[in-house]
Amino acid sequence: MKIAFCSSEVFPFVKTGGLADVCGALPLALEKLGIEVSIFLPFYKSIDVTKFKIEKVAAHVSKTTLGNNIQVYFIANDKYFGRDGIYGNKEGDYPDNLERFQFFCEQTLEFLNESKWNPDVVHCHDWQTALIPVYLKERYKKEDVFKNTKSLLTIHNLAYQGVFPKKEFGKLKLPEELFGLKGFEFFGKINLLKAGIVYADGLNTVSPQYAKEIQTKEFGCGLEGVIGSRKNSVVGILNGLDYTVWNPQVDPWLEYKYSAGDSLENKRKNKAKLQEKLQLPIREEVPLFGFVGRLTHQKGIDLILEAIDDLVDLDLQLVIQGIGESKYHTMLDTLNMRYPKDVALCLTFDEQMAHQIYAGSDLFLMPSTFEPCGLSQMISLRYGTIPIVYNTGGLTDSIKEFNSRTQTGNGFLFADYTKASFVDVVKRALAIYQNKNQFNQLIANAFTSDFSWDHSAKEYQKLYQCLPSA
Ligand code: ADP
Repeated sequence: MKIAFCSSEVFPFVKTGGLADVCGALPLALEKLGIEVSIFLPFYKSIDVTKFKIEKVAAHVSKTTLGNNIQVYFIANDKYFGRDGIYGNKEGDYPDNLERFQFFCEQTLEFLNESKWNPDVVHCHDWQTALIPVYLKERYKKEDVFKNTKSLLTIHNLAYQGVFPKKEFGKLKLPEELFGLKGFEFFGKINLLKAGIVYADGLNTVSPQYAKEIQTKEFGCGLEGVIGSRKNSVVGILNGLDYTVWNPQVDPWLEYKYSAGDSLENKRKNKAKLQEKLQLPIREEVPLFGFVGRLTHQKGIDLILEAIDDLVDLDLQLVIQGIGESKYHTMLDTLNMRYPKDVALCLTFDEQMAHQIYAGSDLFLMPSTFEPCGLSQMISLRYGTIPIVYNTGGLTDSIKEFNSRTQTGNGFLFADYTKASFVDVVKRALAIYQNKNQFNQLIANAFTSDFSWDHSAKEYQKLYQCLPSA
C-alpha cells in the first residue's frame, strides 16, 4: 500500500504544534507496518538545510529521507516560503496564505503525476492541504496515476479553516460554480477546510471524543452541519506519541536521564536544575507545575491568568512556556514581575526547554477550552509528570481521574470551565502530591499509560483499506 502524506508541518523539519509531531511520527509507524509512505511539505526558509541531507530533484522539489526509506519531498518557492514565519508574523496571518498553500497542493499533485508514483491514498492534514481532495476529483480525475487514488482528510483542529475573501477564488484555478453552498462557500467567503470535508473520500479527526464533539453546535465551529451530513464517514483515531523522541531514559536534552523503574532521584535532580535555570527558588518540596502550549484562548491561558492569585496562594511554582497572541505575551510579562518567586516564563519556541519542563515539573496544567487530541498531556505522562486537564476532546480519551482508593487513574480532570473548579482540581492534585505513597503510585500509573503509535497506526491502516471508492 502506498500513501502520500501531505502536511504543512512535519517534525523534525518544521514545527509549531502537535500537527508536526503527528506528521513526523505516524509515517514512521506506518512504515513499520510495511506501508510505503512519501511525505510532502513546503520548503520553508526556517528548515535547517545543514541538519538534513537534502537534494534537489525537480524545479520546485527537493528531497530527503526519514526512517528506513520514507521519501520526504519539500515543495519550494522562495516567493511563498522564503520568509521567516510558517503561517504569519507579528502582524498576523500572511495575507497570501491562500496562494501559498494552493501552490503547495498543486505542486504536490503535479509532482506525483509526473513521477508516476500512484498512491492508494493521499492523506491530507488540516485546511492547508484540504484543496487536494478537491483537485483530485475536479482537476486530476482523468490522470492515470490517480485512477485508484482515494483521499483522506484528517482534521487536527476545526477552529482553523482557511477562510479567505471570495474575490480570491480565481486563484484556486477551479470552475466558478464550485463556489457554492455545496462547495467552498461559507458565509460568503471561501472556506478551504469545508471544501475538503465535502470532497474527501474519508474523514477523520484525532480522538474519538472530538469526532463526536465536532458534530455539535458547541464545538462544530459552524461546520457541524457539513460534518453531520457525512457523519457515517467521520472516524476518531487517537493520536500517538513518538516514544523515541519523547523518552526520559535517553532524552539528549536532559542532564539526568530516568525511567519508570528508577527511584525518581534523577527526576528530582531535573526539577532542581529547572528551578535553577528559571531562577525560581530551588525547593524540593514545593510542587512545580508546568505549562507548554500555544498562547491562544484554546489552551486555557485566560483561565490560568484568572486563577493565578489563588494558585500562588497554594504555595506552588509555575512555569509557563509558549508563544502566540501578543496580548498574552503582554499579560504574562506582568505576572513574572508580580510573582518573581512563584511564576517563571519562557515565551519562546524552544524544544529543549519544553523537554526540560516536561521532565522537571511535578504536575502539568492543560485547561484547554477544547482539545482535538492534545499531545502535551501524553508527553507529561511519558515523563512521569501528572496532567491536570479540562474534561474535553482527546483529554477525556487519554486522562482518567486518579482514585486514591483503587489506586487507578493517571491524572486529574475538571468538568466545569470555571475558576472555582479549576482551583478545586489543583487543590485535589496537591492533596495527593502531599501524600508521597499515593503520588508515587500516580506517577507509576502515568508511566504505564501507553500512547505509543503502535495501536493507532493500525487503525489508520484499516481506515486506508476501507475508504469508499473514489
Ligand atoms: P497543539 O497541536 O494544539 O498546539 P498539542 O498538545 O497537540 O497542541 O501539541 C503541542 C506540541 O507543541 C507539543 O509537542 C508541545 O511540546 C509543543 N510546543 C508548544 N509550544 C511550544 C513552545 N513554545 N516551545 C516548544 N514546544 C512547544
